[in-house]
Amino acid sequence: MRLVLLGAPGAGKGTQAKKLIEKYSIPQISTGDILRKAVADGTPLGKEAKAVMDRGELVPDSIVLGLVRERLKRDDCRNGYILDGFPRNTAQAEALDKMLSTMAAALTVAVSIDVDKNDLMKRMTGRRTCKSCQQVYNIYFSPPKKEGVCDKCGGALFQRDDDKEETIRKRLDVYEAQTAPLIDYYRRKGILKSIPGTGSIEEIFKKVCNALEGK
Ligand code: AMP
Repeated sequence: MRLVLLGAPGAGKGTQAKKLIEKYSIPQISTGDILRKAVADGTPLGKEAKAVMDRGELVPDSIVLGLVRERLKRDDCRNGYILDGFPRNTAQAEALDKMLSTMAAALTVAVSIDVDKNDLMKRMTGRRTCKSCQQVYNIYFSPPKKEGVCDKCGGALFQRDDDKEETIRKRLDVYEAQTAPLIDYYRRKGILKSIPGTGSIEEIFKKVCNALEGK
């Protein structure tokens, strides 16, 4: 299964992707995670990307496409993958289609998780991530047992620089203008499944799985 997860920042793509990895044994490819790692490692690419990311804007297509192209070549992608946060605009979606046509491995499905804009703000300003294992919490909806500490591994929780309020507004605007049109792009291709992103993580996951299994 070659899957694209669509949805605004904060819609829960990353959370659902993590559950899909377990259920379907395919890797998650998150361009956001790859870029954040490059920033943390202080690579030249990371240095270039950091300022753009902190402003909530999109990193240039050429950089992101290069990262995805390399990642898709790895062995673990042979049985499929979950693209999370990529593509982010029509140019990236078209480039992806081209890339996959040379591999004779077109996308199977695009799942869009739809969430109201006001809910998105609360989800994102409340989001905290574990420094050690990347587990995600929300101080409003799914807080850790002990404030600031990861339930799973005891690591310290932090707020991503791009989850601050001003950056979030910008990211939502960028989503509306550049990424939301991909919903129509995949609908026209006949591979879109839309899921209301309301309810618990488990409820949403069930809807995602049902959509993937054609139920
Ligand atoms: P995410 O974790 O997917 O919300 O991504 C965080 C930030 O990384 C975004 O706000 C962008 O600055 C950058 N980014 C992630 N994926 C892409 C992409 N496909 N194209 C351009 N920029 C991206």
